Amino acid sequence: MRHSHPYTIAYETVERTTNIFVRIETSGGVVGYGCAAPDLMVTGETPESVIRAIEEVAVPELKGQDPLRIARHVHELQLSLAEDSAALAAIDMALYDILGKTAGLPIWRILGGYRRSIRTSVTIGIMPVEESIAEARAWIERGFHCLKVKGGRVLAEDIERVTKIREAVGEHVKLRFDANQGYTVKEALSFVRSTRSVGIELLEQPTPSRKPDLLGRVTGKVAIPVMADESLMNLRDAFRLARKELVDMVNIKLMKVGGIFEALQINAVARSANLEVMVGCMDEAGLGIAAGLHFALARPNIAYADLDGHLGLIGDPTHDAVIISKGVLHPQESPGLGYEVKSP
Ligand code: MG
Repeated sequence: MRHSHPYTIAYETVERTTNIFVRIETSGGVVGYGCAAPDLMVTGETPESVIRAIEEVAVPELKGQDPLRIARHVHELQLSLAEDSAALAAIDMALYDILGKTAGLPIWRILGGYRRSIRTSVTIGIMPVEESIAEARAWIERGFHCLKVKGGRVLAEDIERVTKIREAVGEHVKLRFDANQGYTVKEALSFVRSTRSVGIELLEQPTPSRKPDLLGRVTGKVAIPVMADESLMNLRDAFRLARKELVDMVNIKLMKVGGIFEALQINAVARSANLEVMVGCMDEAGLGIAAGLHFALARPNIAYADLDGHLGLIGDPTHDAVIISKGVLHPQESPGLGYEVKSP
């Protein structure tokens, strides 16, 4: 699928994305759907590796098995698919979809049903100031009221962009900032100091993912919440970040952690350490966004969503798996994740 608006972040420019859709049919005729959005830079996967993982590992594991034993299947698959988190997420999603369709209930209600909808931010990639302002205004005209500005390449330009965007959009719009690992500790502190009057809601992954202690050095010195994204890939990362109190918030993405089952466990670790949680996404089709949304709606401590990956995709067959209205995401009320192939 192509993006209607290609975007740039600290380490890449994204013009198109490949999602792999998974369809699991039970002997009783229930069909569950999942999708994988592999991202070489984050999960180390390619479309080819996802297809291989599904065909060679997941299919033999699941054939003839009871699809509702999700904990068992995820546990078994994790042993072989530790490096294939998006592939695992697609399978996990399809199994939850089957669970919901079997029960006749949407997944968010099966998982706890804490809220009915959640506001999402939309992304403004790295681009010149004037274009950033134009894009910010365009989103706000479409009813969105939360922007996530990308940066992490040139500190001075980042400071100027968020300052000018704030001037252009006014005080009522929430502004988040994601440096995608691009800063040193010193630059991160300088960014926060220089944007104090801008009112940045949160600072996402300012420093390199492989050195989580650097996040702690930023967190300890700034007044705004610092969030781990690329530094949180699995349950063990969550525990380390929490135990050492390195961040205030975590960004849980199903594609990174391998699906809803693992995301619920990571969320429990975050909750135990009083970390706030945002659900994020890769460049996912509507179906993947729906799965993230159902997870987000289920738990009280997930108060933030950044589920905009599907908005710019052209030709997404699952785009209506979620409903978006004035910047707020709502699930479909149909059973499962909310996607069905329409009969012609
Ligand atoms: Mg991020």
